[in-house]
Amino acid sequence: MLVRKNILKVTPYVGGKPIEETKRQFGLKEVIKLASNENPLGASPKALKAIKDFLVNINRYPDSNSFYLKNKLAKKLRLNPQNLILGNGSDEIIDIIIKTFVEDDENIIISGSTFLEYEIIAKVNNKEVITVPLKNFKYDLTAIKNKINRKTKLVFIANPNNPTGTFVSKAELEDFLSTLPNSVILVLDEAYDTFIDTSDYPFGINYFQMNNCIVMKTFSKAYGLAGLRIGFAIAKEELVSFMERVRQPFNVNSLAQVAAVAALEDSKFLAATKKNNLIEKKFLYKNLRDLNVSFVPTVTNFILIDTGKDGVEVFKEMLKYGVIVRDMQQYGLKSFIRVTIGTRKENEKFIAVIKKVLK
Ligand code: PMP
Repeated sequence: MLVRKNILKVTPYVGGKPIEETKRQFGLKEVIKLASNENPLGASPKALKAIKDFLVNINRYPDSNSFYLKNKLAKKLRLNPQNLILGNGSDEIIDIIIKTFVEDDENIIISGSTFLEYEIIAKVNNKEVITVPLKNFKYDLTAIKNKINRKTKLVFIANPNNPTGTFVSKAELEDFLSTLPNSVILVLDEAYDTFIDTSDYPFGINYFQMNNCIVMKTFSKAYGLAGLRIGFAIAKEELVSFMERVRQPFNVNSLAQVAAVAALEDSKFLAATKKNNLIEKKFLYKNLRDLNVSFVPTVTNFILIDTGKDGVEVFKEMLKYGVIVRDMQQYGLKSFIRVTIGTRKENEKFIAVIKKVLK
């Protein structure tokens, strides 16, 4: 066979449908995309300026060590640059982690209905994946504990989880860590940590020094830099040094590096992003309740909604009105859609369209 056998087991990742494609397909002038949990306010103005100022330098290779960005992050997070590794999106860091730590005969534990890339990247790397179903849309840490065996190397926990918007609490995480064997690494994926509005959330940065724990973050969501592809992870120096052997030298492009430095300085933009999300979350909750549509309460910038119908059909119907959401078929949640919290104008349109489609 030409292709490796494990590649035949891989279902390709299907991202949110692009705006331009939807316009072409349905002959629409105006389309809103609430499908990929991007920042509805755009990108940080400071980041945009930094990119423009830097453009003339793109004939040069990027700094392979991302000196300025690592130092900026280290200062902000009060840790050493040696505790940080940067990636071409946190997607790439998932790949680096698996390639660095998982032997061919070892396994990786993930949950059902979680970020799809864990399973896809594990399978591309020909590793066994053990899937533990969610319980009430939440991680079932007891069941995960029971599934850990001698061959388990990694456990992925998206905290908060995508697509459910739920989170593992401080007590739950601490209990889990206290029984985690030393031979297992916990990956805490905190892609949506900036939107957290509860005091009971365990930030991974408080746990990585004492545990085999890798904390992943991204600039794609709250910082509005999804198109540039940049994310990072925090871990003990030794774990980072192993991952650095696997990382490609120029994985983070120079525009992403300067944009991320500037975005970290743009506290005004970050505050506006958080404020919009909180206000608009309440707006969507109220309107969904008024329509009698059930949803899972979220600590993120997206909401999982039970349409009570076939979610794929609802998704397709909504496209005709110029609203792109995400169907949840690949996540095994057939009657659900996931909607990103947008601006007021976008959310009003979303509510008007879902009202029409679900009536
Ligand atoms: N983790 C989770 C839980 C996500 O939802 C996403 C993006 N959808 C990612 C990681 C990947 O983010 P990035 O753009 O940094 O690759």
